[in-house]
Amino acid sequence: TRAFNFSAGPATLPESVLRQAQAEMLEWNGVGASIVEISHRSADFMAVAAQAEADLRTLVGIPDDYAVLFLAGGATTQQALLPLNLAAPGQRVDYVVSGHWGKTAVKQAQPYVEVNIAADGEAGGFRDIPARAQWQLSDDAAYVHITANETIHGVEFREVPDVGAVPLVADFSSSIASEPIDVSRYGVIYAGAQKNLGPVGIVVVIVRRDLLERAGQPRADIFDYRSHAARDSMLNTPPTWNWYLLGLTVQWMLAQGGTAEFARRNAAKASLVYAAIDGSGGFYRNEVAPGVRSRMNIPFFLPSAELDARFVADAKAAGLIALKGHKAVGGIRASLYNAMPLEGAQALAAFMHDFQQRNG
Ligand code: PLP
Repeated sequence: TRAFNFSAGPATLPESVLRQAQAEMLEWNGVGASIVEISHRSADFMAVAAQAEADLRTLVGIPDDYAVLFLAGGATTQQALLPLNLAAPGQRVDYVVSGHWGKTAVKQAQPYVEVNIAADGEAGGFRDIPARAQWQLSDDAAYVHITANETIHGVEFREVPDVGAVPLVADFSSSIASEPIDVSRYGVIYAGAQKNLGPVGIVVVIVRRDLLERAGQPRADIFDYRSHAARDSMLNTPPTWNWYLLGLTVQWMLAQGGTAEFARRNAAKASLVYAAIDGSGGFYRNEVAPGVRSRMNIPFFLPSAELDARFVADAKAAGLIALKGHKAVGGIRASLYNAMPLEGAQALAAFMHDFQQRNG
């Protein structure tokens, strides 16, 4: 039996997608081979790839003046490729650090460019996002980078910050397709697939086409977004299996009603868990400022590390798995991505109540 899986990523996927993949593993679409055994340049696979892009464009609302790249290397690799592609040597870039992944983005960019930390929530334990009015933006930045949702610290931008004419680059790894967004407000959106879009091993980069014309810095072809765009992300062998599964997951999301429907479901799921925390009289604690609480990843703490550990073990025995918090933060973390059904959040909230009765 499948448990309710609260993993932050790789994360739970829709059961129907896994069943279809299982059924098609040995033989796919009448070609006499598995989809993992056919050429990425075959007409069959090219059709899968094109359909996945078309469906993702529909799901996320990606305008025609944006290219969509499907790349290997995960989100972290993109954090290094962004400055190589978008900033001239010596040009400044502005980063707003609202958690662990914002820090990673800075670290990956620093070898290539002068990084200005425009705002940093670390002094406050990443419990809030520094207000836009406090950001110290450069006059001449190549772009401004934010992390739309911090998977570990559980803080999420609830509105798009205004950064004027400078392209806004956003890491949407853990919140893409979780609600409708206005893509035109961003220069680049990137997202590792392994939370909301499908399996690990592929990353989506949505980039405004005019930014592909930037000279950037000397780099190999394989690190060049323009080259990838010109070759439909087939400059080298792409992760075909992951691309195919991503396509199935995107189709599932469209069939479920798209991002508006997931916004509704995700708000309902998150409010169940936050209500269980806030209504516990302090037994459970989430320390994030209410206005920026993540709908996708909810970190919380019990009164002691011993109770945290017992909670994780008892939850597992009750069919609620992967609730241990990230080691950087400790405690508990519940990830509630699109594929987590409402029943999973209900079961967690009920378990929290029950656990408190027994241990509070
Ligand atoms: N950015 C965010 C917001 C993440 O949650 C993660 C991974 O969990 C990453 C970046 C890094 O992704 P990857 O491991 O695919 O490089």
